[in-house]
Order: sequence, then structure tokens, then C-alpha cells
Amino acid sequence: MTKFALFIPLSIAALFGAETLIRVDASRGCAFIGELQEEIRYNQNGNNVGALAVSRIMAHSGLKPNFRVAAADVPNACAVIEGNERLILYNEAWMRELTESTQTDWSAYAILAHEVGHHLQGHTLTNEGSRPHLELESDTYTGFVLKNMGASLAESLAVFQTLPDVETATHPARSRRLVAVTEGWNRAQRLAGEHEQTTPAARQSFSQFHGRVGRLEAIFSLAWHDQGSVSGSYYYPAWGKEKTYHLIGSTQPDGQLYLEEFYQSKITARCHLTQRGEGANRRWEGTMYNTDGRIFPMSFSSGAPARQPAARTNGQGEQNAKSAISHGQGFVGKLDASFSLTIDEAGKVSGSYYYPARGREKTYRLDGEISSGNLMILREYTGSELSAICELSKVRQGSQEVWRGTMKNLDGRQFQMGFSF
Ligand SMILES: [Zn+2]
Repeated sequence: MTKFALFIPLSIAALFGAETLIRVDASRGCAFIGELQEEIRYNQNGNNVGALAVSRIMAHSGLKPNFRVAAADVPNACAVIEGNERLILYNEAWMRELTESTQTDWSAYAILAHEVGHHLQGHTLTNEGSRPHLELESDTYTGFVLKNMGASLAESLAVFQTLPDVETATHPARSRRLVAVTEGWNRAQRLAGEHEQTTPAARQSFSQFHGRVGRLEAIFSLAWHDQGSVSGSYYYPAWGKEKTYHLIGSTQPDGQLYLEEFYQSKITARCHLTQRGEGANRRWEGTMYNTDGRIFPMSFSSGAPARQPAARTNGQGEQNAKSAISHGQGFVGKLDASFSLTIDEAGKVSGSYYYPARGREKTYRLDGEISSGNLMILREYTGSELSAICELSKVRQGSQEVWRGTMKNLDGRQFQMGFSF
């Protein structure tokens, strides 16, 4: 560890007191967002609110705190190792701003718990650095420990809601991180619930829903419990009731529904759905991420069986009389692409695209939805087969609508994509 007192600008020295400069091996550290910087200055003995928070987190993990926690000149927060010492460093102003903008102190706990998770799960010992799958492990730990500390699911998710929904080389997209936090939170709730489940009062009435997972019709039986937890099961009529999948999860006041799918007590998928409509018209639409990597659109609603979204064979989708077709230019990977999309009042999107370089004969059908105004999920079909899921964010408003994001092909390939109208 290098003492760096000579080179500290006076103002920072006055602010921080004794400073330490460390050089960081980026492959042995994890940042909360983005890449790790190579040189970090941290304050050795400042007024350390973070250390108190971390000791609370550790108490709920049943472990002795053995980290050095300090404010530092990092852009957000990180977990690194310096010699034999495990460090958790954070930017005080950034943390304060997030706590204020999300209106909950739990955001600071969530950030620090995420960094604790990196250390406890050995991520700072490998030379992988920040990697999407390691980030998800830490996010799951965050949900778990925050639930144990008394945070609601919404409070646990608050800071993650502020992240961009774009996957990078180091970090997964927001939607994946929300699912991971929810998974940990649900796991803690399940463990806590095991002590209480002996009372028959916990039994709730289940409602039946009809829907689809991928292209298969599915029948869901779900109950909404107190404090937003949801449980139930579903099966595919085509396969018979013997193969029933269990679902457990939670719902949020804004209509987001997170479910984990279990088959024979093993987790097999994580689902993220959004509620649309109210009362008898309620329906849920979203995506199922299977643990084996397959991704399916899923939806269900009360009442009559849902119409089949993938059954349209004319390639263009139905045209809503109230909506106009927008033609836009864009790209998928390195290829220019030409898009025609219809967006109706409810945020339903349908249309198609083709690559001018390859000709119009090879046109891909798209359907999907816009949620919360600036997140678009599109499913791409090649023929009648689902071939990709696209997650896009609106990056510019005004006279031109610009959408950017990622296309995840079901064969594993992934492309940047974007278009504007
Ligand atoms: Zn991280």
C-alpha cells in the first residue's frame, strides 16, 4: 500500500484527511456499474457511514465483518483486494444522490451488500473481474440479505431500477438484475416462511388464468398473498397435468410480477411480467428466462383462453385501425436494416424488418410491447418460429424517436441493434 500524501491536491487532502492510493488489478475487482479504474484513492479514517452499514449487513449474514470499508474517488462502488485486505470502496456523493433519488436508505445497503456479495462469493479472488454472471450472483445475495434485514422487495429493487437496461461486457441489463435481486429476496422469504407455514390461515384462494409460454397454451393457477407474494403453478394442457410447474414470486405496486419456476424442487426458470389492464381485463405479459438459456415470451389473463400471438401467418401482424405504420431505418449487428412498425395505444408493437442488402424476400416478423414509455421488448419470428428477443430503450425523444438495444438470438448469438423514426 502506497502512502500518497505528497501528491494529494490540497482541497482533497483537507476533505479526506489521510489518503491511500492503490493500483487495482481490474481482473480482481468488481464495480457496481461499468469497468474498474486502475488507480483508486481512498480515505483511511474518514467518518465512515459505509462501514457501519456493512457491519449490519454482515450481522445478518452471520459472519464477522472483516472488510475495510471506505469512501474513495471511484465513480460508484467496488469490491477489490489489496494485499491481504478486502476492500469495499464507494463514492459518497454518488451514494447519497442515489439514496435521495430513490427515496430510500435501502439503496445504500443494496449497493454495499452487492459488494459484500462479491467478496463472500470469492469473485475478487478469481481473475475474471466484473462479469455478467458474477454480477447476478451478487445481486441475488443482495436481495437475500436485504429481505433478512427487513427491506421490502420494492426497497431492495429501488437502486437497480435506476440502472440502464442495456447489457455490457461487465454487467447484465437491468431486467436481469431485477430478476436476480428478486430471486434472492424470494429465497429469504421462503426460508422465513418455512417457520410459519404450519398455520392453515396461509392458505389463499387460487384463481385460474389462461395463457401461453412460447407457443404452447398453458393454464395457470395463482394466488396473491399479503405483502405482495404470489404462488401457484401451471401446466400445458397438451402435455397433461402430471407435468405441473410450481411458481413462486412477488408482485410490485407498479404491476411488475417476478416469478421463479420450479420443477421437482429445482429452479428451472425466472419470469418477469408486467400487468396490463385492470379488474376483469387484467393480463400479464413478459418473458421467461429458462436456466438452460432458452427464452420464451409468456402471458396469461383471466377469462377466455388467450389468442395465439404467433399464429399470424401473413407476416405483417394485424393492423389496428387507430395506429399508423412507422417506417424507420436502423441496424442489426453490422447490417443496415429497414423497419416497419405499428405501435397501438396500449403500447403493443407489431411489424417486421428486412436487410436491404439481402432483399425483401427475407422479412422477419416482430411483435412486442412498450413498457413504462421507454422500454421496448420485441420478439422476432423467422417463419412462425420465435428466433430472437430484442430489448430496446428509447434514447432520444422529440421529433425523432431513437431506439437502441440488444437482439438476443435463441441460438445464442447477440447483436447490438437500433432504429429511428
Ligand atoms: Zn458488481
